[in-house]
Amino acid sequence: MKRGKVFVISGPSGVGKGTLCTELMKLYPDLAATTVSVTTRAPRPGETDGVHYYFRSDEEFDRMLAKDMFLETVDKFTHRYGTLFSEVERVLAAGKNVILEIEMIGGANVKKRIPDAVLIFILPPTLSALTDRIVGRGSESAEQIRIRQAQVETEFDQAKPYEYFVVNDELDLAVERVKAIIVAEGLKADACDVKKQYFGR
Ligand code: ADP
Ligand code: 5GP
Repeated sequence: MKRGKVFVISGPSGVGKGTLCTELMKLYPDLAATTVSVTTRAPRPGETDGVHYYFRSDEEFDRMLAKDMFLETVDKFTHRYGTLFSEVERVLAAGKNVILEIEMIGGANVKKRIPDAVLIFILPPTLSALTDRIVGRGSESAEQIRIRQAQVETEFDQAKPYEYFVVNDELDLAVERVKAIIVAEGLKADACDVKKQYFGR
């Protein structure tokens, strides 16, 4: 079975990463799957442990770190987040591409450890649309919204190492653009195999 690739999807809070990934997997369930990260933040209404995140205490997060269970971790918005090796392997073992919906420091760290990982940054059509979306989602306190907005400029700076930039204006179009990247990157990997087989390099 052909092994999938790792795709990192990042972008400012509220840009629509979660919505886009959910739609992509609904339309193309065999193409890719997301992993479930560990976080020390509290679940939002409607979030389930083991589905949206593994919600763990700080002490449990420390124990997992000590056991070297994480591909990468980050401290963000006063909470900690981490990608488990076991989650990446679970998706690859199912023959799918892996989508890591994580922030940019994590994305850069993944690229260091997995050089052929592909970094995709999702942009809002405008900054005011971004504010509307995060407020409209209604899941954050005014304080959390303020913290997240204050970070937007830094977040755009952190996007420099990213390889693809996709504007999430119309959701359906954005989904198709991300799908096109995943398919094309798979073909690129196939081309490498063909070159090795036929031309010995
Ligand atoms: P993120 O995961 O990046 O924090 P979400 O997926 O939670 O963002 O989306 C934030 C809000 O924006 C949600 O209410 C979602 O329905 C909305 N949204 C996502 N994509 C679009 C889009 N293309 N146009 C308008 N609203 C969108
Ligand atoms: P939220 O609290 O809104 O679910 O996520 C906050 C930010 O943390 C988002 O940018 C999200 O992509 C990122 N994030 C979620 N899980 C991980 C992870 O495992 N690692 C890293 N580096 N970032 C993560």
